[in-house]
Amino acid sequence: MQTDRKLRERGAGSELALAINGGKPVRATWLPYGHQVISEQDIAAVVATLKSDWLTQGPAIKEFEESVASYTGVKYAVAYSSGTAALHGAYFAAGIGEGDEIVTAPITFAATSNAAVYLGARPVFADVDAATGLIDVDSAKSCITGRTKALVGIDFAGQPCDYDALANLAKEKNLVFITDSAHSLGGFYHGRPAASQADMAILSFHPVKSITTGEGGMVLTNSKEYFDRLITFRTHGIEKDPAKLTAHEGPWYHEMQFLGFNYRMCDMQAALGTSQMKSIDGFVKRRREIAALYRKMLAGSAFYDCVEELAERQSAYHLFPILVKKKPYAQTRKVVFEALHAENIGVQVHYIPTYKFPYYKELLGRDLSEELPGAEEFYAREIGLPIFASMTDHDVEDVILGLAKIGQALLA
Ligand SMILES: *Cc1c(COP(=O)(O)O)cnc(C)c1O
Repeated sequence: MQTDRKLRERGAGSELALAINGGKPVRATWLPYGHQVISEQDIAAVVATLKSDWLTQGPAIKEFEESVASYTGVKYAVAYSSGTAALHGAYFAAGIGEGDEIVTAPITFAATSNAAVYLGARPVFADVDAATGLIDVDSAKSCITGRTKALVGIDFAGQPCDYDALANLAKEKNLVFITDSAHSLGGFYHGRPAASQADMAILSFHPVKSITTGEGGMVLTNSKEYFDRLITFRTHGIEKDPAKLTAHEGPWYHEMQFLGFNYRMCDMQAALGTSQMKSIDGFVKRRREIAALYRKMLAGSAFYDCVEELAERQSAYHLFPILVKKKPYAQTRKVVFEALHAENIGVQVHYIPTYKFPYYKELLGRDLSEELPGAEEFYAREIGLPIFASMTDHDVEDVILGLAKIGQALLA
């Protein structure tokens, strides 16, 4: 690690005492793991919408949808009130219902599988690659049954899952291929925007994601059929297109044709989203610079491995996950996590495997811990370092100094 010189420059000595043991923290102020970047133009765009005629169901939604569709190169984009609502919509559009199964991975936010449960379906958890946290395609294949309707990959940390292998598997088994791309807006697979390469992909615009609308989400697809269902599901299942109605009683007439939801995004959020899209390239570029700096400073570390960026993928670096090297992993991870928090470094663990939650243990009827060694190992080792577009190089050095101090004092 390229830290010895930096430690000396900072006076070393007393500063080397861990904050958790009463020493001086590396930072005086808390460094969060993620943070939004809001410009004056973003604020002006929201204010302009507040002064317009439309706070919801106005022109800002279509404009935002078009900006994301053109950036990712898909035909259709449907804005939703959250990434979770977008997952619900995508699973509904895929025809998932009572008694069906989806095959997905447990190293993700709980919403990936929750949204299938909303529809009465059952998530079946495939294992992940212990080195990357990405869904293991062979394991996913072994989880497919006659009831499986969809194969759901996750672009964990912003790194695209193996789209080609998953798309082929889905095709072979006649499944809908969906990706939870909440982390990967701005990420590429084989040189093309990752989220454009599934039957449907969902995005999230929560403040820690690539761009934000406060709360918000979107489904991307090239299918007109999915698009139509996504639009109707977002507004209560109400159909207004005369060509699709079963009766024609007058100009007011519309029909609720299935049970949908109010999952609309409002115009202020969409205006923020369109404005944020103008900065996406700069945001992702900065995230990638920070990742490169972390990699350089952690190269050859005796205590921590970085999750590699695989060939033919360009991560959007929603997260920068590192893996502790010393066994027993879970114990080392806990020590490092607690010591980093004391140093004012706001690391997080991504993720507690979904099957470990009490709700899922009951739903699945058992604890899968013994069956998914990749997920178990990844979870035991992982710590997500702070990464966001407005982080400075000095912030990155603070994280490295904290890691170095902790490594020397507790892991050597
Ligand atoms: C953020 C996120 C979502 C959706 O979250 P919302 O807060 O509902 O927008 C879904 N999956 C993953 C992996 C996420 O990180």
